[in-house]
Amino acid sequence: MYKATLEYAQQLDKEDKLSYLRDQFHIPKDKEGNDWLYFTGNSLGLQPKQTQQYIQQELDDWAKYGVEGHFEAKNPWMPYHEFLTEKMATIVGAKPLEVVIMNTLTTNLHLLMVSFYQPTKTKFKIVIESDAFPSDRYAVQSQLKFHGFDPEEGLIEWRPREGEELLRIEDLEQIVSEQGDQIALLLIGGVNYYTGQYLDLKRIAEIGHAKDCFVGIDLAHGAGNISPELHESGVDFAAWCTYKYLNSGPGSLAGLFVHEKHAYNKELPRFAGWWNHNKETRFNMRQPFDVMAGGEGWQLSNPPILSMAAIRSSLDLFDKVGMAALREKSERLTGYFEFLVNQIDTDRIKVITPSNPKERGCQLSIQVKNADKSLHHKLTEKNVITDWREPDVIRCAPVPMYNSFEDVFRMVEILKGLL
Ligand SMILES: *Cc1c(COP(=O)(O)O)cnc(C)c1O
Repeated sequence: MYKATLEYAQQLDKEDKLSYLRDQFHIPKDKEGNDWLYFTGNSLGLQPKQTQQYIQQELDDWAKYGVEGHFEAKNPWMPYHEFLTEKMATIVGAKPLEVVIMNTLTTNLHLLMVSFYQPTKTKFKIVIESDAFPSDRYAVQSQLKFHGFDPEEGLIEWRPREGEELLRIEDLEQIVSEQGDQIALLLIGGVNYYTGQYLDLKRIAEIGHAKDCFVGIDLAHGAGNISPELHESGVDFAAWCTYKYLNSGPGSLAGLFVHEKHAYNKELPRFAGWWNHNKETRFNMRQPFDVMAGGEGWQLSNPPILSMAAIRSSLDLFDKVGMAALREKSERLTGYFEFLVNQIDTDRIKVITPSNPKERGCQLSIQVKNADKSLHHKLTEKNVITDWREPDVIRCAPVPMYNSFEDVFRMVEILKGLL
């Protein structure tokens, strides 16, 4: 069993085979030079030290070769996105064919809905979680409007029961069994950004497909945090950003997954550009459009190499360590965090994230009574970086790549002091 002492936390760090990784990241510091207690890797992951060299390489090759860098650069820019695909696919449990890195998350959701939201007069509704991230909500509302539907009528919210915070899969099942004939699409956050609840993607896919609905997953809070086994889950599509748990820098590019079962379907409606045209004939210029198979078939433009260099740096780290080892540490790290928080004798806070490690990633969402936001401000004053999400939650994500058991211990000591 865990112990609530600094010595014990330090002992856990000594036994942690991944503790060497912390040194490979830039940890922000306060004015006195002490490391911040950084718990917002779910919002913006920290910078791997090696990222600078990866970006510098492309700047140097651009200086040296100009346009010829597309072929002559050490990592030629023409196929650059392909260097990322396999490692990204491994992280989310997909086949390389199914994955591509392009654009940003909300943009990818829209491009995917061009293909997988095909409403008819009677089957046009979209299901989201009631606590969906605002961008996802706005995206589906605007899709409904774009297709001529009233978002009020077209949007179905899967919500927690009265007095509960978490979603129950049987409630989704009921929504879809009752209204499935009118539902065209389920678009669900695989790990909810607010509660940290990790949902059963395979069940969601089965529930949707039983009523001929397409099923899409937003994995913004899943990629690099949990192992979602996307291919196995059978969902039709997914998208995620890489600046949260995947540590690739502010506003960096996003991932896209389209299940293999759709990889060769050239009839799917989609938008086109030269980058989803067959790469063999792309530069013959006057060809009729010939869409590529798989995830690459959703690209439009040639991608920003500097952002991809940062992603490449991060994926190389993930590849070295492996999601299995990261998950193992993560379960222990968050388990210890939960143990310590639960030891605080107070009724002012409550952890709303599921306590079953299989139903969460690393984040714990701490609900604060009477939505007292001052608690979050005071944590920040003490260099504990967490975030506040309206209406009443402090989100804290101990990230296995760079957070330590000692970080968690110190954080909870400060929290306890403030309460
Ligand atoms: C972070 C996040 C976004 C952000 O979208 P961008 O297009 O990258 O700005 C969208 N949806 C969810 C669920 C998120 O967690």
